[in-house]
This record gives sequence, structure tokens and C-alpha cells, in this order.
Amino acid sequence: NAKEIPGAPIDPLYGLVAAYEADKSDKKVDLGVGAYRDENAKPWILPVVQKATEIYNNAKKDHEYLPIAGLPEFNSAAQRLVLGADSVAISEKRVCSFQTISGTGAVYLGGLLVSQFTAQPRPYVYISSPSWPIHDQIFATVGLPVRHYPYFRSDTKTFDLEGMMQSLSSAPKGSIVVLHACAHNPTGVDPTKDEWKKIAAIMKTNDLFPFFDCAYQGFASGYLSEDNFAVRYFVDQGFQLVIAQSFAKNLGLYGQRVGGFHFVAEPGANSQSTTTNVASQLSLLQRSEISSPPIFGAQIASIVLNDPKLFTEWETDLLTMSGRIKKMRKCLKQELDRLQTPGTWDHIVNQIGMFSFTGLNCAQVMVLRERWHVYMAETGRISVAGLNEHNVAYFASAVDDVVRT
Ligand code: PMP
Repeated sequence: NAKEIPGAPIDPLYGLVAAYEADKSDKKVDLGVGAYRDENAKPWILPVVQKATEIYNNAKKDHEYLPIAGLPEFNSAAQRLVLGADSVAISEKRVCSFQTISGTGAVYLGGLLVSQFTAQPRPYVYISSPSWPIHDQIFATVGLPVRHYPYFRSDTKTFDLEGMMQSLSSAPKGSIVVLHACAHNPTGVDPTKDEWKKIAAIMKTNDLFPFFDCAYQGFASGYLSEDNFAVRYFVDQGFQLVIAQSFAKNLGLYGQRVGGFHFVAEPGANSQSTTTNVASQLSLLQRSEISSPPIFGAQIASIVLNDPKLFTEWETDLLTMSGRIKKMRKCLKQELDRLQTPGTWDHIVNQIGMFSFTGLNCAQVMVLRERWHVYMAETGRISVAGLNEHNVAYFASAVDDVVRT
């Protein structure tokens, strides 16, 4: 009886977008949505994506269904991108890849796989605290029990290695651990290479299963081949693992929903047959969810990923985006220093990726919205890409005001 269905709260971030759009002030600043903006606060179509679109349009391709697993040449290129072209897992044929409805669809497909092929009681899924809120939502939807591991120290605004290690050392064997491959959302702090090694070691000892979420490859260091360090390291350590991959941010293909799900079997005699079996089950799950994934965005991504010249141009576009974000971090910090805003603001420049976890509290965020027309998540997270040379000083003075009142 539908009368018994209670109303659900609206998604906070989409609510924020609506509030921003309804605001008539010409001063308004959008720091909510995690999407790259250019120096005029406008969405940016990557030049390489424009080129790939022309190539695609000139080829006058048809609109037939893709295979259940998606576009084969997209899948293989996406696999090489996240694992490294020289990955032994690829040469040993123990990886299978599915094109998904962006990163969200990949996390969901992985969640379904885990929920269907693990024994009762189902394993815990450990998610960083804080994390992208949809992690909790997806794993709960597929019926998996969720636990959280500490990730962020709010006193120092740095990565909480001790807290995470302690939590993982007491996690039951067989638990799933969701790991942000790079450019952690929302905190903007990642483990160092040495810290990743420690995390891998404790996960090996305790027999924990890595579930990587790779939504920002190219946004942390600015380099695609640097930002997959953690994934490559875990594969080299012989883990069986999965990766949810998104091309929303790094190719700017947000609404085209281009993503990949990759399963890597552990090395050993049965690794190829395990991979074949997992792929056959993923086919069933994908078939009943979406039948086959959408064609346009995957074709565009595939053109870029498979052409060495376009790939190089993509790397340049990525540096344009990450470079501008880094510049805005510096400008914001300089402005806050100039205003002598109470508090320390080093974290603004030390954090990486698209976001900064400012440390502003919910009440301050509300004042920023009402008094200053600045829109940001209640957690104090800002999308640094929303800042530009026209609004950064304004934002800094708004922050200065709310911190002092
Ligand atoms: N994981 C993380 C950590 C994210 O931040 C996002 C995007 N906000 C996603 C996955 C999924 O994004 P999309 O479905 O747009 O690829």
C-alpha cells in the first residue's frame, strides 16, 4: 500500500544546487557541486573531448545496442588506465571489466556482486568517516551492513593513519574495505605511499577485501600514471580486489555517465576460471539492471584513451584543470592570511584534488549561505573548482566574517 510509504529527505547536494539556482544575487558563489568550473565559473568541455566528439560524429556510427559488458575497446583501455598498461594481472588474464553507469553504477554493481556471493551473515563494508555519502546509501541498498573507519583528524586536518589502522586491525576477516584510490572526497587528504603500504599490510594480515573507488584519477597529482599508485600496489601485493572507476571528472563527461567496474582475481592456478565465472555473474547482474550500457560517452572516452596523440592532449587538459585548482588554493590561502582570519589555513593548500575540507561548521555554512550567497556542503566541504579570480577574494572575506562572528 503506497499510502504507507514515508517521504524521504531530498538529497542534500541536489537540494543545494536548487537553492543556488533560485538565488537571484549576482554575488552568489557555487562551491557545492563536485564538477570542474573554468575561470568564469562555467562548465568546461575538455578540448580533447571536443575533438573526439567531432571524430565520432564524422564516423556516422549507428545507435545499436552495445554488448552487455559495454564497448570492448573502452573496457580494455579503461582497465589499462587504472591498472597500468604493464600490469601482470592483465597479462595473466585475471581481470574482467564492465562498462557501467559512471562511478555510481560501478559501486552499485560491485555492491550487488558482494551481496550475492558472500555467505550469511554478510560481511561488513568498512567506509571511511567521512566519505562520499552515497557509499553508505549504496551498500545499505544492497543489504550489506556498513561500518566506518576513522580517516580524518579534525584537530590537525590530516589523514588519521592510526585511527584507520586500529579500526582495520579489529575488522572481522573477510570484511570489505572501501578505499578512495586518490583525491579523497570530501577531505582532500590521501595516505602517502608509505601509508598505503601499511594499509595493504594490515589488510593482508586480516584478510580484508579492497574495494577501490577511483573517481578522480588525474586530479590528485595531476598525472594519471601517478594517481593509480594505490591500486597498482595492492594488485602487486597479490590481492583479489575490485575497482569502481569514473570518467565523470577527469574527462568532464559527468552527465554522459561513463564508468567501469573491474574485478581482479588473485594470482594462482584458478585465477582465469575465477575471472570467467565472475564475469558471467556480472553479466547476469548487469542484464537485469540496465541490459547494456549507453554508447555515446563510452565511444568518446574510447577515442581519447586509444589514440596516443589524443591521450597526450588529455593529459594536458588534466593539468589545466588541476593547475587552476591548485592556483585557487593558493589564492584563497593568501587572501585569508592577508585578512588575518583567525585560525590556521595551511590545510587549504596542503589538501589535494577537487575538494577542501575547510573546517567551517554547519552553523557557519548556513551564515555563508544566507548572508553571503555562498553555497557549500554542510560538512564544510568546498569544491575548490568553484573559485576563480573574480570570486576568491569575496569568498575569503565571507569566511573571515563568519569565523569572527
Ligand atoms: N565516488 C566518489 C568518491 C565520488 O566523489 C563520486 C562523484 N561525486 C563518485 C564515486 C561517482 O560519480 P559519478 O557517478 O558521477 O561517476
